[in-house]
Amino acid sequence: AWERVRRRLRAELGEDVFSSWFARLEIAGIVGGIAYLTVPTRFLKSWLEAHYAERLRVNCIAELPAPKGVLLSVRQASRDTTPAPLAEAVMRSRPASSTTPVPAEAAKPGAATAQSGEPELVDVCGTTLDRRMSFQNFVVGKSNQLSFAAAERIAAAPAGQSPYNPLYLHAGVGLGKTHLLQAIAQEARRLGKRVAYFTADRFMYGFVAALKSQTALAFKEKLRGIDLLVVDDVQFIQGKSIQQEFGHTINALLDAGKQIVVAGDRLAGELEALDERIRSRLGGGLVVEVGELDEALRAKILATRLEALQSAHPNFQVSPDVVAYVARVVATNGRDLDGAANRLLAHATLSGQFVTLETAEAAIRDLVRTREPRRVKIEDIQKLVATRYNVSRADILSERRTAAVVKPRQIAMYLSKALTPRSLPEIGRRFGGRDHTTVLHAVRKIEKAISEDRSLHEEVDLLKRMLQE
Ligand code: ADP
Ligand code: MG
Repeated sequence: AWERVRRRLRAELGEDVFSSWFARLEIAGIVGGIAYLTVPTRFLKSWLEAHYAERLRVNCIAELPAPKGVLLSVRQASRDTTPAPLAEAVMRSRPASSTTPVPAEAAKPGAATAQSGEPELVDVCGTTLDRRMSFQNFVVGKSNQLSFAAAERIAAAPAGQSPYNPLYLHAGVGLGKTHLLQAIAQEARRLGKRVAYFTADRFMYGFVAALKSQTALAFKEKLRGIDLLVVDDVQFIQGKSIQQEFGHTINALLDAGKQIVVAGDRLAGELEALDERIRSRLGGGLVVEVGELDEALRAKILATRLEALQSAHPNFQVSPDVVAYVARVVATNGRDLDGAANRLLAHATLSGQFVTLETAEAAIRDLVRTREPRRVKIEDIQKLVATRYNVSRADILSERRTAAVVKPRQIAMYLSKALTPRSLPEIGRRFGGRDHTTVLHAVRKIEKAISEDRSLHEEVDLLKRMLQE
């Protein structure tokens, strides 16, 4: 049935549009009449919601047993306790971790949910937690010692006697938030506490499914019975009713003296999507930032990771100078270090040779990223804007003054000014030889329009991200 939905979309929208926006759309399951669809990036999710929500809904309702419509979410990279097969390890270590293919399992709302109609309460016995992510395997350095100490104390504290509540951890990607959260959950569980561990996506699935199957009360009851609630990637919680429920849950648990640990990719106050009261409650406990990994810390993390791989592949040897080299050049985060370790292993296994500095360099070359944003070309801007507004690039460069052409033209000029280092006269030249005052007029006009029109603002924002991605 899902294939039929895809076919319809392809037929309605054409191959180009389909392959740009729908090729990576997957179905995770149908629960309570709602089709849960997943995409690999947040950007793609916003784009589909902004432009194709209705079409998706209509087609899914027509072809699937999903009368209540669709819910889109971003699928997360999966973690499992068994080492990934080599090919998968190599795939996973690709630098664009957001596009890493995810085994279908990981995207499912949870088998328990689908069968019983009741949300699963994921505890550390479930498959979601990764034994590797323990306190023991966490390498402590200057940038993360505070978060580590807080996490350890919370895990160890007897139920109801929390030293810090709630704990809010924030950091950029790959700096160890999930690792710490899972370590807390596993250790607390080991000490006999009742633990619920959710990623934001799973919390959403859980709640929506419970609401639809009218087991929401049971779900809430179950949550009330726990000692520790751990929620990862809270920035992804969205949808008004779910946020409200999340807020109620947090409030009720905190009021009952239960421990809450939450991680997000920014400060609690900056979680724009979340209700103000939740933000302030999360920000009102202990807030710790997990800092960037310095070179010494990276070397230790990499060495730990390599050791773990060596226990499964005894012939896999990496000399200290290679470790030092990789830790120096892969300066981004723990995820990329994992990627680098997997590459080295793949290389050693495939070639049957020891890893030398030279082969290491080749194996990890594309992980050595500079953080500079991508260079955007005026031509790409014109093409994207033209496609988006259903005009041709020639229209944009032409003298035509119909509204259907003027608006995209002005947006394209605005984006050219915002995203490229080109001067106004240069931009004018690239837009069919216009005067720089015309460009300036367009830039001001769009700036003003954006400040007044929220949906235009979002639209332009999406275009920007799309061009930079
Ligand atoms: P985040 O959730 O902040 O994006 P993760 O916790 O998923 O980051 O970390 C990415 C990878 O780096 C994981 O494999 C994790 O085990 C590893 N990692 C990050 N920080 C450390 C650390 N201090 N010690 C050991 N491994 C770490
Ligand atoms: Mg994480």
